[in-house]
Amino acid sequence: MQLPSIDPPDRLLTGPGPSNPDPRVLEAMAKPMVGHLDPYFLEVMDRTMTMLRSLYRTNNHHTIPMSGTGTAGLEAIMLNLIEPGDHALIGVIGYFGQRLQEMAMRAGATVRVIEVPFGEVIQPDTMAAAIAEQPPSLVALVHAETSTGAEQPLADIARMAREAGALMVIDCVTSLGGIAVEIDVWGIDAAGSCSQKCIGAPPGLGPVTFGPRAMEKVRSRAAAPPTWYLDLNLLFQYWGEGESKARAFHHTAPVSSIYAFHEALRLIHEEGVEARWERHRRAHAQFVEGIAELGLSLFTPVEHRLPMLNVIEIPDGVDDAPVRAALLARGIEVAPGFGPLSGKTWRVGLMGTNATDERVGRLLEGLKEVLGR
Ligand SMILES: *Cc1c(COP(=O)(O)O)cnc(C)c1O
Repeated sequence: MQLPSIDPPDRLLTGPGPSNPDPRVLEAMAKPMVGHLDPYFLEVMDRTMTMLRSLYRTNNHHTIPMSGTGTAGLEAIMLNLIEPGDHALIGVIGYFGQRLQEMAMRAGATVRVIEVPFGEVIQPDTMAAAIAEQPPSLVALVHAETSTGAEQPLADIARMAREAGALMVIDCVTSLGGIAVEIDVWGIDAAGSCSQKCIGAPPGLGPVTFGPRAMEKVRSRAAAPPTWYLDLNLLFQYWGEGESKARAFHHTAPVSSIYAFHEALRLIHEEGVEARWERHRRAHAQFVEGIAELGLSLFTPVEHRLPMLNVIEIPDGVDDAPVRAALLARGIEVAPGFGPLSGKTWRVGLMGTNATDERVGRLLEGLKEVLGR
């Protein structure tokens, strides 16, 4: 019997992720399998943790790529750091903030939400007032809101949250590897990202980091969290606790995914974390200039635009879906708008390997052809 093999088309992945992994990352994924407790693999795990700490700009020991996508990492944060009845304050600037709200509720928190219209960000004063009104035990925000293309400033809010005794949690799924994420300088207690956006590995891992205050909460819980798979105490018996070299089986680590992630981190550190931020910034500037020449503009106010996620306003008289289909026929993926922005915007990701002159040029060329401008 002849069954079709996997033979995917070549795509320029300029949507909200996955981005195109560097060939070295895909090659790493095809390296020989070893056991997940093999001494060689334990070394790979340690090196992965070290490189992930420097990407997160943190000394947090508890820094790992969680099995499961970015969402699994975020859910691990919520389920481990919230006990039933805890008070959580969630900032919502778009769709991904709504998901944090839902996760906090399901973890048993009493949730209060500060919400602003799509495209805007939350001002520190607004958050300060909400924190003062009723001090929460956890404050959570999305750093790079992929539905609106907005960057939420975090440093001031994180400081206020901590001063009020709350844990500061962020979703940096889209930002990590593309713009500054300063876990220690900003005083973030827990953060979750993904493997497939600006880090440039395949989807499947949720890189997370937990600081000392977060781990204190984990250890002082009255009861174990309502999840076994995402229980941090169990997970770190496998990933290693402090200086201890003891490793206990919890679940089988996705060995090949971690190889790929390790290679993606190696590429990031060869380039330099700050040089990578700068490359994303340049690609965004080039893109904004290019779309202006096509008579297009961005939805997100210029003061808080993300470089790696560009939300284009669809011009009057242009239909959303046919344009995206025509781009895809040319091998270029862009994404539709989200929620209230659906049908009115396209979302263009310039992440990881795609934040270069050449890739941005190809994308602009495609847009020009398809729009006939
Ligand atoms: C992509 C994304 C997620 C979800 O990550 P997955 O890896 O798809 O689970 C969460 N938050 C934000 C802000 C995202 O952009």
